[in-house]
Amino acid sequence: MKITTTQELLMTRSALNPVAPIGVGTQEVESLVSYFCRLAMSHCVSTKNLGRYVVATMQRELSEDNTWLMTNSFSGMSETVGDWARSLSELTSVESLESLTLRAWRNVIAERSPRPVSARWCPQCLAEDRAAGVSPYFRLAWDVGAVTACSKHKAKLAHVCTNCGGIDTRHKSSYVVPGWCTACDSFLGCPDNIEPAPLSEIWVASQVGATLAIQSNLPSLPTTKGLLDTIRELVDRLDDGKSAIFARRIGLSKTTVHYWLKEGGCPTLPALLRIASQTGLTLPKLLTGDLADWLQAFAEIHEIQQLFPEAPKRAPRRRHDWKQIRAEMGALNKLSVAVSLTEAARKLNVGSRLLYKRAGEEARILSERWNEHQRHSAEQNRKKTSELIKQLYPEILAQGRAVNLRELLAHVPKDSDVKLRNVFHFLKEIKDDIA
Ligand SMILES: [Zn+2]
Ligand SMILES: [Zn+2]
Repeated sequence: MKITTTQELLMTRSALNPVAPIGVGTQEVESLVSYFCRLAMSHCVSTKNLGRYVVATMQRELSEDNTWLMTNSFSGMSETVGDWARSLSELTSVESLESLTLRAWRNVIAERSPRPVSARWCPQCLAEDRAAGVSPYFRLAWDVGAVTACSKHKAKLAHVCTNCGGIDTRHKSSYVVPGWCTACDSFLGCPDNIEPAPLSEIWVASQVGATLAIQSNLPSLPTTKGLLDTIRELVDRLDDGKSAIFARRIGLSKTTVHYWLKEGGCPTLPALLRIASQTGLTLPKLLTGDLADWLQAFAEIHEIQQLFPEAPKRAPRRRHDWKQIRAEMGALNKLSVAVSLTEAARKLNVGSRLLYKRAGEEARILSERWNEHQRHSAEQNRKKTSELIKQLYPEILAQGRAVNLRELLAHVPKDSDVKLRNVFHFLKEIKDDIA
C-alpha cells in the first residue's frame, strides 16, 4: 500500500499510529531517528518503551539496546537498521521507512565512512518548520558525517544548545519532541546559533542532499560492481587507465584506488566526494553509474585543497592569563542573568575542569548562581505548565480530541514561553483529579 497524505493514513488500521514520514523524495527527507521520536510521541510513550514494544511484537532478533537505538547510526546503512525500518513499516503500515535511512547506498558507500561526533541540526530549518506550523523534525542529511552545513540555508550545522551549552541534547532522552533541547527544553531553532558556511561545505551538503533526494525512487539498488565500473571508466577517459595518476588527481594514495579497482573495495563517502569534485560527475550520478551526459570538457572541477583541507596541525598549548580570566568570570557573576559554567568555559575558551582548578572561587559562585537560576525557572515553569494544561484540557476535550502531548503542543498559544515539561505527570494528575 503506497500512502502519501495524512488523510489517507488516517483511513488505515495498524498496530502503531501510521505517522507520515516527512520530506521523502526531497533533500530534506526525515531521518529514522526523528521518525521514531515522533512515533513515540504520538503514542505518549518513551522511545525506550516503544523500542521494547517493537521488539516484543515482531518477535525478531532486534537489538533492543536503547543506547544504540537513539544514536545517529539508527539512520545508517547496517542490516540492523534495515530490520528496524522494516519492522516499523509493518507495524505502522507506512511503506518503505527504509528510505529514512542510508540503506539504499549500502553497496556503494563504505559503512566505515565517518559518522558525526555529536547530533547536529540546522537552526533555520527547525525555525522554518515551526513558523510554518508543521512539526519540526531532524533531516537525514544531518546524520551524514561528511555533511557539516545546510545547503538550503548556506549555514553551518549546530551541535550546541545556546541556552544550556549542552552537546548531544537533540534527541538523547526518553521523551523527545524533535526541535527542543532534551536538557533545558529550549527551542533549538535559535537565531543566535547561525554561522554562515564556506562554499566548500555547501557544495558537499548539496551533493549529499541531491543523493538523498533520489534514494526513495531508484529503479534498482546500486551495486559495488556498477560503481567500480564507473570509476574505471573515469580513470580510462581522464587518465588513460592509469590509476596512479587518477589517485593523484583526487588526492588519495594509489593503494587506495588500487584497493577499489583490483580488490573490489568500496570507497568511503569522503573519497566519493573527492571523485565527484575532481571529475565533475555529480555524487548521485557517480553512485548510480550514470555517465550518460558527462562530458569531460564541461566538467566543473573544484579546488581540492579547499574541499578537503589537510587536517590542521595541533595548536600549541595556550598559555592562559588567569588574572584576566578570573576578572572576566567575576564580571559574568555580576550579570543579571545567570551563566552556566559550560557556557562560561565556551566564552573564555578554557575547559570547565581547568576553570574549577585555577579559578575555583569564581567557578563555584558561577555554578551556584546557575543552579539557583535553574531551580527557580524549573519551579516557575512547573507552575505555568500546570496552569496551561488545566486551561487547555477542557478546550481540547470540547473539540472531541484526545488530550496528549501532540494535541497540547498544537494548542499552546504561539506567544507562550511555557516549556512543556513533565507533561505526562501533569496529565496523569489532572486525569486522576477528574476521576
Ligand atoms: Zn537549514
Ligand atoms: Zn539546552
